[in-house]
Amino acid sequence: MNAGILFVTVFIFGLIIGSFLNVCVSRIPKGVSIISPRSRCPECLAPISFYDNLPLISYLVLRGNCRHCGVSIPFRYPLVELLTAAITALFVFKWRADIPWLIVSLSAAYLLITVSLIDFETFMIADAFSYALMLLGFVSAFFNPYFNGGASARFLDFFSGGLTGAVIVGSLAWLGKRIYKKEAVGEGDIFLMAGIGALTGVQGVFSTLMFASFFGAVYGGWLILFKKAGRFDHVPFSPFLSLGAVINLYRLFRITDFFIW
Ligand SMILES: [Zn+2]
Repeated sequence: MNAGILFVTVFIFGLIIGSFLNVCVSRIPKGVSIISPRSRCPECLAPISFYDNLPLISYLVLRGNCRHCGVSIPFRYPLVELLTAAITALFVFKWRADIPWLIVSLSAAYLLITVSLIDFETFMIADAFSYALMLLGFVSAFFNPYFNGGASARFLDFFSGGLTGAVIVGSLAWLGKRIYKKEAVGEGDIFLMAGIGALTGVQGVFSTLMFASFFGAVYGGWLILFKKAGRFDHVPFSPFLSLGAVINLYRLFRITDFFIW
């Protein structure tokens, strides 16, 4: 297929998935079905017609407001659609010669986007997403491009990755509790990191943590600098773990990559 047509198709597909992820983020914490009822404005409850529900385009046409009552639509909606489309396009171009891994890594990225946004908005991690990541890791272990060797060696890569992730983040959670006397790293982060390790192995666990600490520190510094949060306010960790994990699903970084330039 022509690269331009492929790009446009994949990008539109990504926008549609992003639109669905937005629905999941809004509904899963409330325990509402993600399939029905149809989308409604949360303010005036008017049903949203299909032409007002097109990813990105409707937001631009409506200038970010509900057609009926004018309440502003959270900027999260177009942002998540764009982000999902960009990630989908990048992954397709990187992994299109390895369709099984493309499907697994993209599915994992979608789960990570959803779990992070729910954590960001509600400070809750739905562990079902972490279990789904572990299951993906197990199913893909036998063709995972980051793992090597025969079936038992690959199973060991899957298992040691998940275990390392859980043990390291578990230790961080324990330390955080002792030092700050409150939950700095949550229990949900432990399962999430086990899921990430199950897909990216031990190497992926270390570099995900490197990326997460870096982006987390930048974000925390920004919050403190602009007085949006105090030193000890709760900042969800899972969005940074997820960002690191998505980078590693796209291309595996080894710990040495951070020290040898
Ligand atoms: Zn409305």
